[in-house]
Amino acid sequence: MADRAALSPQPKPWIAAIDAYVPGKSAGADGRPLIKLSANENPLGCSPVAAAARATAGPPALYPDPDSTALREALGRLHGIDPARIVCGTGSGELLTVAASGFAGPGDEVLYVRYGFSLYDIAARRCGANPIIAADHDYGTDVAALLAAVSARTRLVFLANPNNPTGSYLARGALAGLHAALPSDVLLVVDQAYAEFVAPEDDDGALDLAARHGNVLVMRTFSKAYGLAAERVGWATGAPALIDILNRLRGPFNLSASAQATALAALGDQPFVEASRRANLAARKDFAAAIAALGNHGLRALPSEANFILVLFEGRLTAGEAWRGLAEAGFITRWLPGQGLPHGLRITIGTPEQMHEVAAVLQRLAETAP
Ligand SMILES: *Cc1c(COP(=O)(O)O)cnc(C)c1O
Repeated sequence: MADRAALSPQPKPWIAAIDAYVPGKSAGADGRPLIKLSANENPLGCSPVAAAARATAGPPALYPDPDSTALREALGRLHGIDPARIVCGTGSGELLTVAASGFAGPGDEVLYVRYGFSLYDIAARRCGANPIIAADHDYGTDVAALLAAVSARTRLVFLANPNNPTGSYLARGALAGLHAALPSDVLLVVDQAYAEFVAPEDDDGALDLAARHGNVLVMRTFSKAYGLAAERVGWATGAPALIDILNRLRGPFNLSASAQATALAALGDQPFVEASRRANLAARKDFAAAIAALGNHGLRALPSEANFILVLFEGRLTAGEAWRGLAEAGFITRWLPGQGLPHGLRITIGTPEQMHEVAAVLQRLAETAP
């Protein structure tokens, strides 16, 4: 054993293979603060009721409710779900990760579409499973390709709906078709991080699937439409046997007292969520039209149901140059070469004024591109 003294702790090879999550940046290379259109945060902030609740949340010395009971009960009332079928997470990011660890391991496969959310790769690798990527259809989810990629080793399918970073959306019928064709021992995780931005009549039906079937989990977050990204609150719902596994794996006091109080208050202010949805819809429509007007310069806005648009640069102006030009003009956006999108910029929908300026900068850059 003497030679062991020269060794150092070795990470598991599947952990060493993880590329750490790259968050949206908020400052320029020179440290100058920029208007942040890189992380899909809410330009309206959060509900004033939630901000007030945050400021007065309980004594810091005491542990919070380990089960986020009041928040789960309020979520149950709002969405018509038995609170026993709800688990809260430190952001939905925690729940995505524990879902993969609970149901997949070394040798198993975790499946999702090309241009899926970057955290799925990390969640799969963390538990030693192999990430499997199904082909897209013009950047959107291709249900047939997903189903064709299911193998005997597939344990879990991640589907963000709307998807990040593309904004694409699978309608209710297509989602039901995907679920119906999956083997019943494959867990379908529908990540509805942007669901509040979708018109109620266009709902994808995932909560119904989670209520009726034993192999569907739906995940939601307070980070986007509720404007509470700083508080780290997400939740999942599904069959009790699935929720039981997530409860075993999540952190014991995973939601801080202020996170629970703030999210509970935010939930009570649905008019704020509705105002956020309407503001996003209007600004997104105008911005998509402004990009469409630059089609002759090779710019293309992918159809989006979320609070961002993926703009493709297929002409002389490159996405990298557009990213630099926007940063010089004071806007930080998300360039995604690491996700196979060197020709794409994901741009969060900010205020109408910000989006007019972003469109004007892109027009200037496109017209003067070498
Ligand atoms: C932002 C986002 C989440 C949620 O992240 P939190 O951990 O809840 O802040 C989950 N899925 C997708 C696709 C997202 O874009």
